[in-house]
Amino acid sequence: MAVNPIVRSLGPGVAAYLQLPGGWFLNNAGWLSGTEATLLIDTCATEARTRDLLAALHTHTPAEQRPVTVALTHAHGDHAHGAGLISRLGGTVLCRPTAATTIAAGPHTYPELFSYTDWGDITPLSDVQTITARTTLDLGPRRSAEIVPVPNTAHTDGDLVVWIPREGVLFPGDLVFTDVTPLAAHGSITGWLAALDWLADFEATHIVPGHGAMGAGPTRGLIAPLVDYFHWLLDVVHHGDPDFTALHHHACTRWHSWLDSERHAANLRIAHAEIHGYRCDGSTAMAAMTTFTGGTIPLNL
Ligand SMILES: [Zn+2]
Repeated sequence: MAVNPIVRSLGPGVAAYLQLPGGWFLNNAGWLSGTEATLLIDTCATEARTRDLLAALHTHTPAEQRPVTVALTHAHGDHAHGAGLISRLGGTVLCRPTAATTIAAGPHTYPELFSYTDWGDITPLSDVQTITARTTLDLGPRRSAEIVPVPNTAHTDGDLVVWIPREGVLFPGDLVFTDVTPLAAHGSITGWLAALDWLADFEATHIVPGHGAMGAGPTRGLIAPLVDYFHWLLDVVHHGDPDFTALHHHACTRWHSWLDSERHAANLRIAHAEIHGYRCDGSTAMAAMTTFTGGTIPLNL
């Protein structure tokens, strides 16, 4: 396996599970363990990676802290492909209703984008508990987590965040990327901007991004680069017929440290559609990326 996950303790029973540097399908996850139960935040893209996540969880938490409940921050396969496995192992899966619908229609492996096939068993689950309002999970003494639906379409139309108030730990899912190009192909750039503003109110001590390294300092410092980028996207597509190639080149230069720069091609099309009031279907955004890469995108999972 090319990437070895890192477990970072963030307080009693709280850990981030980091798969760095965090490009395509290398997401971050985490958990909160109490005496009554364990809450897992997200799964991984492949069966093998989800089994590694569970092995790390069991290594770092005592056996009596099961059963496992997993909260899926959204429906994307890197975060949700392992949910079926956890369900089949007796766990409970929580997600937004729209995410449940998307997951049930999967698994989504996008063969037009990726030639990767070694997913293992990622059969979707059919039994989820849907989250429609802010929900507190009590996992035992001094161990509680809040599952909070994002109030609008942002990264997707079914995002949620997990907030652990005692330690000030926020799992925002893919609302936050660090040094990885965010991808808005299934959401809304204006909605994502609104969600980032909403996110700042948590005043978290630790933020575990959906992809990329954890940053230090206040929430706004971590999300400011994303806010700049999304405003740029919306600003530069105001002309009806923008030069997407030149804009893509500019983005690659300006955000040169971000991985997966082909995503700029998709984001620019999404921004153009949003500003000019039409729908950009997913296949158009995907095709823009493979045109840039010159073929399917290699995965190293
Ligand atoms: Zn995602």
